Amino acid sequence: MRTPETVIVVLGAILLLQCVARGQSQTRTSNAGSLWDLARSSQKVHRFSTLLTAQQVRDLLSSEEGIRSAIDWCKKTAVTKVYIETFRGYQADRAALQKAKGAFLAEGFEVSGCVTTVNVGKPSTGWKALISCYTDLPTQDKLQAVFEYAAGLFDEIMIDDFWFTDCACPQCDAARKAKTATVGQKTYPAPGDTWEDYRCELMVNVSRDRVLAPARKVNPKVRLIIKYPQWYDQFHERGYEVIRETADFDRIWVGTETRDYADKRWGGTPQYEAYFIMRWLGGIGGDKCGGGWYDPYGTTERTYVEQARQTVLAGARESTLFCYGSLLKDTGPKNVEALRAEIPELLSVAGEVGKRQIVGVAAYKPANSHPEKERRVFDFVGMMGLPLVPCHQFPTDAPAGFFSVHALKDANLAANLSAFIAAGKPTLITDGLAEQVKGKVKLDAANVRVLNVKGDPKSLLALPQADVDAIRAMMLQPLKVSLKAPNKMGFYLFRDGSYVVENFNDEAAKVEINGATQTVPARGWTHQWK
Ligand SMILES: [Zn+2]
Repeated sequence: MRTPETVIVVLGAILLLQCVARGQSQTRTSNAGSLWDLARSSQKVHRFSTLLTAQQVRDLLSSEEGIRSAIDWCKKTAVTKVYIETFRGYQADRAALQKAKGAFLAEGFEVSGCVTTVNVGKPSTGWKALISCYTDLPTQDKLQAVFEYAAGLFDEIMIDDFWFTDCACPQCDAARKAKTATVGQKTYPAPGDTWEDYRCELMVNVSRDRVLAPARKVNPKVRLIIKYPQWYDQFHERGYEVIRETADFDRIWVGTETRDYADKRWGGTPQYEAYFIMRWLGGIGGDKCGGGWYDPYGTTERTYVEQARQTVLAGARESTLFCYGSLLKDTGPKNVEALRAEIPELLSVAGEVGKRQIVGVAAYKPANSHPEKERRVFDFVGMMGLPLVPCHQFPTDAPAGFFSVHALKDANLAANLSAFIAAGKPTLITDGLAEQVKGKVKLDAANVRVLNVKGDPKSLLALPQADVDAIRAMMLQPLKVSLKAPNKMGFYLFRDGSYVVENFNDEAAKVEINGATQTVPARGWTHQWK
């Protein structure tokens, strides 16, 4: 039986070995110092940031000791930028915000603001507890005041991903039927009478007239960041319109909080989703795409670190760790401890990824496209070890392509897809899309394979290795790469032949790449840079 003493001795020995292995000093202070120095010198490649909510500004940053403690935590976690939030239902006190901002600036941090649009005004008929009805003019007035206040304090403001509406009150319903969004004194025609038409028109114009313009009037230097949530297949239903909003805002941010697939409350999203959404929005946003954002809810240390890896592999220039207060409790401290140990490797990988262009199988999701019964199918196809290149425009020049019912949003799909297939390119098409394009697109060519999703994308996780090996062999042929591996692997391929393989299985995986065999540890990754 282990006594507490032997546990301490064993732990001490492990810690000593880890420190020796990493060539670091044994003292915690200098270890924190080295991570902070590394973070500062790596900021141009990749930066870690955190967010302090308005309530945390009040509860955790109101004393000198609280501020010192937050600064110390950030330095030990390689965090060099903080978002200090002015509003989250509750509006933080100006003096408290200024004091916290000054303290972080004095210690060499970058400091920006944040607004979370919960409980702004008239409650939505949908998610009543948090979301508002933005058809309501007094709610628009309140919203504008919230952003004017924030712009008076900060030159950059993140908007957390509650910037949507699901309200269907009589006022919203009348406006939807009238196909007219009213914002302040102005009216804007919606293209149709669906909820999606109305909410997108409303949120685009409320953003322009009640957020961006008033904030810029108060502070001409201000940059506003729209942070898109992780649920990409429903954006349009709630008024997130990724083309116009990305064009209007100064920067965009991406939710990469996949959490634990098996978690009862938060689960159901596989790890690869973070990569898919970050690359897809990165393609839409280009240089405006600032970073990813993940949290500790419903995670284990392994999934938390996987969120970090997917965010970095997807080319994010910043990882926002939401949020300081949550990372101090529940699963937070263990997650942070695991992350800190990985940060040097994450920064190194971020540097390699940033120098290279990804190649692989185009994965086509047009903006505002409807998932029907294939919700988030891309995430599960990515889990099969296919190196996807997410895109929002038809991938005419891609060497190989994956197509799902989402592609039906493209008015020229039949012609585009027919030409793609006629060019002899490997084409993987879902059974759902095949059903809807039959008669319009010739699918009986040798380079076309139908993927049986059966309206249940998660069923793809159960495909045996023989099936996924066969699909990879066909799809990777023009890339002159081969991968034999179990299902539930991430495969990331770069133009110069560099690659990363990540194993999402709980067991080590035997992997054969271009004929050479290696073992990837359980929930681990390997990378090969040329
Ligand atoms: Zn309403």
